[in-house]
Amino acid sequence: MNTINAVKELPEVKDVQVEFVLHPPWTSDRITEQGHVNLRKFGIAPPPRRMEADGTWHIDCAYCGSAYVTMDNIFGPTACRSILYCKSCKNVFEAMKPVSTLM
Ligand SMILES: [Zn+2]
Repeated sequence: MNTINAVKELPEVKDVQVEFVLHPPWTSDRITEQGHVNLRKFGIAPPPRRMEADGTWHIDCAYCGSAYVTMDNIFGPTACRSILYCKSCKNVFEAMKPVSTLM
């Protein structure tokens, strides 16, 4: 079921119109603070808000917040997510890669 049909099944919805907005382009910078909180609740580390001066970025553990993590696989279930391992709480977690126009 696509998203439009799923929304149409809601009893309070009478009509659905979808408008694709390509400008400005979506980037992970547009994920709200609440979105970051919700991703962590789901066990996914949100994309970092800033890059280091050398162009690298760092992810903290989605579960305990530890910076003591290693990357197990650059690609997770989707190309925009990676699989990391936390050496502090011993959990495997996913992290969203940053998608930014600043990169
Ligand atoms: Zn952890």
